[in-house]
Amino acid sequence: GRCVVAVDGPSGSGKSTVSRRLAASLTARYLDTGAMYRAITWAVLRSGVDLTDAQAVAKVAGEVDLRIGTDPTGYGVTADGVGVEAEIRGPEVTAAVSAVASVPAVRALLVARQRDMIAKAGRIVVEGRDIGSVVAPDADLKVYLTASAAARAARRSAEDASDVAATAADLARRDQIDSTRKADPLAQAPDAVVLDTTELGIDEVVAKLRALLAE
Ligand code: C5P
Repeated sequence: GRCVVAVDGPSGSGKSTVSRRLAASLTARYLDTGAMYRAITWAVLRSGVDLTDAQAVAKVAGEVDLRIGTDPTGYGVTADGVGVEAEIRGPEVTAAVSAVASVPAVRALLVARQRDMIAKAGRIVVEGRDIGSVVAPDADLKVYLTASAAARAARRSAEDASDVAATAADLARRDQIDSTRKADPLAQAPDAVVLDTTELGIDEVVAKLRALLAE
């Protein structure tokens, strides 16, 4: 039957790995909403429009043909037919994504796409920042993953082979932008289960979430 799991939290909280594993173990689909904001950001950077021009950014976002798969063991992301999986993890996109994601018209567009995809999938684990609060407030389970700042920076730099100190500074900068915008997507849904993953392995987190779903 239908099963929607919302996994929110900051980067480095383990949400991507946990969400993919959980989806595979539930034979559910998986949606990485961060990848959608990143792909739009890639298109905005390619277009050359001024990142601070919300109207121009929204126009590019509205025109780009964004496609994303929902297979938890490997999903493709294309923008206007170009595979952008690698580019969206690069430093240029990472530096610009919070600004693009703070444009209300961009959020409205992607939230609508995400709701559509969730309705079509039926069984899906969705990871992001605003899934439990905005995208899928009726989710069957809402989790908010956290971890210490040090653990988050260490995980992120292990993922992308970046410098830990630089990653820690970048995470702090993005957290600041993400948490001070008007429609705060980092706002936890009041009914989300908060799980600190600092001392937990991936399997332990997945097992806890499966237990919560079974309740
Ligand atoms: O999760 P990830 O680090 O890939 O997300 C990249 C950025 O996209 C976040 O820093 C945030 O600015 C934005 N984002 C968002 N809402 C989501 C997912 C991501 O604003 N649901």
